[in-house]
Amino acid sequence: MVYDDQNIFAKIIKGDVSCVKVLENEFILAFMDVMPQAPGHTLVIPKCKTTNLLDLPEEYFPHLMGATQKIAKSIKKVYSPAGVMVLQLNGSEAGQTVFHLHFHIIQRRGGLNYKFHSSGVKSSLELKKERDKIIKNL
Ligand code: AMP
Repeated sequence: MVYDDQNIFAKIIKGDVSCVKVLENEFILAFMDVMPQAPGHTLVIPKCKTTNLLDLPEEYFPHLMGATQKIAKSIKKVYSPAGVMVLQLNGSEAGQTVFHLHFHIIQRRGGLNYKFHSSGVKSSLELKKERDKIIKNL
């Protein structure tokens, strides 16, 4: 699949669209999902033009997985969930809707009404409250 420079995550990397940032370095950016499936739902993306995992240049793997693990550990500390789900979809047939590679990090517990895709957009203020808890525990 040809990478579309106009996808929403490409715009976030360029700074043309704002996000609630959790972690950033020269290889990756992590930010709060705007339609969280649970409090603290975070996305981690590489700063390269990659539609999905199958196209990712090798040098990005340690940075992407390192950041994902770091944030998953923080989410575990902050929310004490029963589990932490790391989810990553490749292709529209697999459910992918934004065609820039991303890992979802989502806490899981009984009683959370988890859906594959959420529809409720949260305000920056609400997202920042959860982001600050995660950053404190990185
Ligand atoms: P996927 O279905 O795996 O491609 O997931 C795309 C995710 O991106 C969904 O969970 C959306 O809620 C999320 N998303 C879409 N636009 C934004 C945005 N501007 N900022 C943060 N998250 C977004």
